Amino acid sequence: MDSADATVEGAPDHSDDRMVDSVLEWTRAECERLDRDDPLSVHRLQFSLPPGLIYLDGNSLGPLPAGTAARIATAVSQEWGEGLIGSWNSAGWIGLPQRVGAKIAALVGAHDDEVVAADSTSVNLFKVLAAALQLRPDRRVILSERGNFPTDLYIAQGLIGMLGKGYRLELAEREDLERLLSPEELGLDVAVAMLTQVDYRDGSRLDMARVTAQVHEAGGVVVWDLAHSAGAFPVALNAAKADFAVGCGYKYLNGGPGAPAFLYVAREHQSRLHQPLSGWMGHAHPFDFAQEYAPEPGISRYLCGTPPVLALTALDEGLDTVLAAQPHGGLAALEAKAARLTECFIDLVEDGCSEYGMTLVTPREAQRRGNQVSFAMEAGDQAYAVVQALIARGVVGDFRAPNILRFGFAPLYLRLVDAWDAAEHVAEVLQTREWDQPRFLRRHAVT
Ligand SMILES: *Cc1c(COP(=O)(O)O)cnc(C)c1O
Repeated sequence: MDSADATVEGAPDHSDDRMVDSVLEWTRAECERLDRDDPLSVHRLQFSLPPGLIYLDGNSLGPLPAGTAARIATAVSQEWGEGLIGSWNSAGWIGLPQRVGAKIAALVGAHDDEVVAADSTSVNLFKVLAAALQLRPDRRVILSERGNFPTDLYIAQGLIGMLGKGYRLELAEREDLERLLSPEELGLDVAVAMLTQVDYRDGSRLDMARVTAQVHEAGGVVVWDLAHSAGAFPVALNAAKADFAVGCGYKYLNGGPGAPAFLYVAREHQSRLHQPLSGWMGHAHPFDFAQEYAPEPGISRYLCGTPPVLALTALDEGLDTVLAAQPHGGLAALEAKAARLTECFIDLVEDGCSEYGMTLVTPREAQRRGNQVSFAMEAGDQAYAVVQALIARGVVGDFRAPNILRFGFAPLYLRLVDAWDAAEHVAEVLQTREWDQPRFLRRHAVT
C-alpha cells in the first residue's frame, strides 16, 4: 500500500502520521508543530468561529470578529439610542467613509486620502469606470476578461448602454491580455482596462505592477477589482501607479454580510473627473443645501448618499483584525502563511484524490495565486455535491459554476492542521462516494 493513501483512508485517527514522512513533506504532527511556532496563530482568537468547523470560505464571507457584536451594540444603544442625531457630529459618524477608507488605504498601498468606504463593489465600479473613461475621451474600448466576475461585466454593459457613442466592451482570455495590450495589437484602442487581480474561479493572480505598466504603455488607464486581494496579501496601488480600484468589505476584510465596499482613485485623477452618482455626500458643502452640484475636490466626490453607519462600524472592527497583524509582519507575513496553507492543501488533495478526477485549476506557483485553491471536476453536479457533503462534515468551501470546488485559506485564522484535516475530509467524501446522495445534489439559491 502506498503510504500516502494511509493518511487519507482512515477517519480522523492520526496514528499513522509517521508513515507518510517518507512520501509527503506534510504530516499532521508537522502541521501542528508549524502552527505552534506560527507568530500569527494568536490572531485566530480575534474571531468567534464555531468550534470544530473548518471555514474555507472567508474569501466569500469573512467570519465574525469577536469584538463586532459588542461594538455594534454600543453603536446602537449609545451612539444611536442616546446620542441620536447628535452622533453624526459627536460620534464622528459623518467622517466614517473617509476614516474607514484610510484604514483600507493602509492595506492596499494607497495614501489615506485616496480611498473611501461606501456603497457596494458593483456601485463603486460604476462610479470609477465612468470617471476613468473621461481620462481617454478619444477612445471607446473597455477591455476586460471573459472570466471576470459577472457583476463587473454587467456594470460595464450597463454603463456602455447609457453612454452609447460607440463604447464597447472587449473581452479577452486572461492569458491573452498581454498580447492584446502589446504595441503590435493596434486594433484595440483601450480606454480602460477593467481587471480583477485574483480570479474568483481559478484563484490566479495578475501581477499588478506589470499589467498596469502594460495598460499605460498601450495608452489606457486601469481599474483594478481587489475583491479577493484586499486583506489577503500586500497590494501596492501607488507603487504600481494604479489609476482606480474597487474592492469588497465582506471578504478578507471581515466587515460582515453586505458590508460597505471601497474605492480608490489616485490623487492625480481625483479632482479632474466627475462620477455620475453625484449625490449630496460628494458635494463640497452638503449642508449648504445648494441647488447646484459642486463636487468636493478630493476623494469624497466619489461618495453618493448617507453612509450606512452600523455597517461601517462593523467594517471598521473587521479591518482592525487585519491591521492587528502588522506587528507580526502584516500582509507580507499573511501572504507567506497563505502560500504554505494552500501548498499543503494542494499537495495533500492531489495525493489523495487525483484518481477521483479532481484537477487543480489554481496556479502551482504561490506568487501566481491568491489565498485560494480551486479544483475542477468533470461533472458539475458531482462538484456541487462534493462541496455539500463537505459542508455537512463541517468543512465549508463553495461551488462555482460550472464545475469548480473552491477553498479559501484566510491566513489570519486558519491553521495548517485545518488544511490537513480538510484534505482528509475531501478524500473521504470521494472514496466513500458520500457525495452521491439526493440531499447533496439539490441546489440552493446561494452556492
Ligand atoms: C465578490 C465580488 C464582487 C461583489 O460585488 P458586490 O457589489 O459586493 O456584490 C464583485 N467583483 C468581484 C471580482 C468579486 O469577487
